[in-house]
Amino acid sequence: MKNDIEFPTTLASAIKYFADADTALNFMATVRWPDGKPVCPCCKKSDAGFLATRRLWKCRECGKQFSVKAGTIFEDSALGFDKWLPAFWMIVNAKNGISSCELSRALGVTQKTAWFMLHRIRLAMQNGTMEKLSGEVEADETYIGGKARSMNNKQRSKRGRGRAALAKRLSWDFWNVAAKSN
Ligand SMILES: [Zn+2]
Repeated sequence: MKNDIEFPTTLASAIKYFADADTALNFMATVRWPDGKPVCPCCKKSDAGFLATRRLWKCRECGKQFSVKAGTIFEDSALGFDKWLPAFWMIVNAKNGISSCELSRALGVTQKTAWFMLHRIRLAMQNGTMEKLSGEVEADETYIGGKARSMNNKQRSKRGRGRAALAKRLSWDFWNVAAKSN
C-alpha cells in the first residue's frame, strides 16, 4: 500500500487526503477488512482478486464482482468516498455536533445531500457499524474493524452503542490505518 501523504489531522487535510480515489479506497478496504482479505458479499468467502482498473474485487469462489461499498451504508449511494470519508471525519471530530448546513458548505454538496449523509452516518453510529444491518447476528459478524469476533459475551455486552462508541472506534481505525501506512 503506497501512502506518502501525512495522515489528516485537520478537515482541510482530510478533504485533500481522501480526494485521491486510491487512497480513499485503500483506507476503506483496510477499515472493512483489517486482515487484508476482502469478503465476498454474495458467498462470504474471502478469496478475491483485485481488478485495479475497475477498483473492484472478483470472488474466485462464485465469480461475483464487488466494491468496497457492497454491504455497507454507502452501497446505494453514488457519492464517492471523497465525500463520505471527510463527512465521517467531521462528525467524529465535531465535539458539539454538526449541522447539514455546515457539512454542505465544507464538502461542497447540496444541503439535501448533506442531510442524507448525516442521516446515514448517524444511523451507522446508532448501529455501531458501517455495515448494512438486517439483524443483530449479522451485526456481530460484520462489526467494524472485525473486533467483535474476538470478543467474549461479557465484553460484547459492555460494548457501548451510539455516537461516542463509534466515534472512538472510528478514530481508532483511522489512526490504526494511518500507523500502518506510515
Ligand atoms: Zn463469492
